[in-house]
Amino acid sequence: SEPAVRVLYWFRTDLRLHSSPALHAALALQPEVIFPVWTWDPNYVFAHRVGVNRFGFLLECMQDLSASLTALNPNTKLLVVRGAPQTVLPRLFQEWRISHIVYEIDRAGYGARRDLQVSALASQAGIKVISVVGNTLYDLKEVVELNGGKATLSLASWHAAVKKCPQPARPLPAPTTFPPLGDTSFSQAYPSLDVPIDYSTDLNNGIRNREVTCFDTFSGPKGDFGVPAIDELGLSRPTTSIRGGESEALRRLAVFCADKDRVAHFSKPQTSPAEFDPPETTLLSPFLKFGCLSVHEFFWRVRDTVASWEGGGPGKKPATKEPENLQGQLHFREMYNAAEYAEGIHFGRIYKNSVCRFIDWDLRDEFGQDGAKIIPRPLGDPRAEEWFLAWKEGRTGFPWIDAIMRQLRQEGWIHHLARHSVACFLTRGQCYISWERGAEVFDEYLLDWDPCANPGNWMWLSASAFYHMYYRVYGVQSFPKKYDKTGKLVRKFCPELSKFPDQFIYAPHLAPLEVQLSAGCVIGQDYPMPMLDDVAEKKRCMTRLKVAYALGLYGSDGAVLDGTADSL
Ligand code: FAD
Repeated sequence: SEPAVRVLYWFRTDLRLHSSPALHAALALQPEVIFPVWTWDPNYVFAHRVGVNRFGFLLECMQDLSASLTALNPNTKLLVVRGAPQTVLPRLFQEWRISHIVYEIDRAGYGARRDLQVSALASQAGIKVISVVGNTLYDLKEVVELNGGKATLSLASWHAAVKKCPQPARPLPAPTTFPPLGDTSFSQAYPSLDVPIDYSTDLNNGIRNREVTCFDTFSGPKGDFGVPAIDELGLSRPTTSIRGGESEALRRLAVFCADKDRVAHFSKPQTSPAEFDPPETTLLSPFLKFGCLSVHEFFWRVRDTVASWEGGGPGKKPATKEPENLQGQLHFREMYNAAEYAEGIHFGRIYKNSVCRFIDWDLRDEFGQDGAKIIPRPLGDPRAEEWFLAWKEGRTGFPWIDAIMRQLRQEGWIHHLARHSVACFLTRGQCYISWERGAEVFDEYLLDWDPCANPGNWMWLSASAFYHMYYRVYGVQSFPKKYDKTGKLVRKFCPELSKFPDQFIYAPHLAPLEVQLSAGCVIGQDYPMPMLDDVAEKKRCMTRLKVAYALGLYGSDGAVLDGTADSL
């Protein structure tokens, strides 16, 4: 008789049941048992700065997924396995007599290299590997091949490539039944956890993230492979009000798309970075990041909503077009994914990154002769380190910047144009600090941190790649005033400034002392004075960028071509 089909379904970028081509492929095998596994990779836990909000969000996604699996079959749930997949999966293959491993393809950064290792180990063990594209609309491999093997550095080049690709598939239905879990006991003792960390993709400069507990037992503290609670990880409570999980993602998508006019007229530059309750964009990025929302579901829901919208017609405002509309937003995501895939492992750093222009930032990473050792130290302006910390902690003395940074830290999400403001300020706008430093802070605080979108957008904002109009700088007062003259975001996230009149809300240091006193906040005492002269620093940055652009000081390995950069 045919050997039994025993599937290990490996969840990673796809914490969902709806529209999952990989899960569909697993179920099509008609397995006798499926082990739905999440491996808690120490590379993720320790080699990133993942803050408490992202940890909490991820746990909620896992809990929701596990509950949905159990609702389909009381004899199943998500199995959380602690340890490096390269170490623990071969043990599971053997102990659980696995015949197939099935997963959604992850082409980004460390994920791609990990998958190569795991698929080689599976093949060695005689296990069939089935991997399916699912977290992008197009197959990145195909897109990059169509772009001549090069990174897609503009939406135009990306469009030129994808127009030869098949149209994105329609979403698949969620399963209505699910095979049971096999026996999860072990014949031998559970393996001890020797967890190799791949520091070559380390964003934490070799420092262990934190003492996260609960990773010292393979099957969890209760021995049942359960999803841990946040307290079991030894972490404090998340501060974000954003809840994770597939159910929440589908709810948010339905609410957003119920307003057809809003979907049809969505225009990213018109959405306000000052609105937060609710925000004017979808706030679906954290759900796409963990795959609780299928990008196909999102794409087609938007397309169908606009197609069924009856608001157009003569004399009416037509539906918005790319790149401002929602479809355009998803295409930006794909463009960065394809660029990262083409560039490979160096995308997240300046060093050896072939798409990134070298700029002599005042605070940037340096590399030893071996190319791997990272020694962050201030180069050039000694104020840079101080400015960096003030920026990170939301105490620059510029209320718009501080409010955004505090929102980021508290909520784990900020509007795209808010990201523009703080990223421009830190890099080419005022501080002249490397985008890598900013990207690391985003890695720590964002719920939606992504190895393609995060460095990609940071390179854009710092005019290091994708964008080169370095002379267009966001004003720290004029820009927010365009959207909100009343300073709602500042009043919420910098409560010490909440009683200032509108006139001074973005520049409270200019308010006369009696105004400061009656607002209950003296600048320089209860809220910092601006840490720098934004106009003078903007000029300085621009001059230096002009020189960096003119000299083209970067080699294919991203290193300085000669010794002159430091003395610019
Ligand atoms: P919406 O406007 O509703 O857009 C829908 C979806 O389109 C988003 O959820 C997102 O998946 C995608 N999208 C929209 N704009 C972009 C973009 N510029 N790049 C890539 N995808 C996009 N996005 C991340 O998902 N992860 C990151 O780590 C990240 N880091 C960023 C860093 C900087 C410095 C900047 C300027 C932007 C960054 N972005 C990142 C892109 C963008 O800001 C967010 O995707 C967006 O604000 C998420 O909010 P939303 O879901 O409401 O977006």
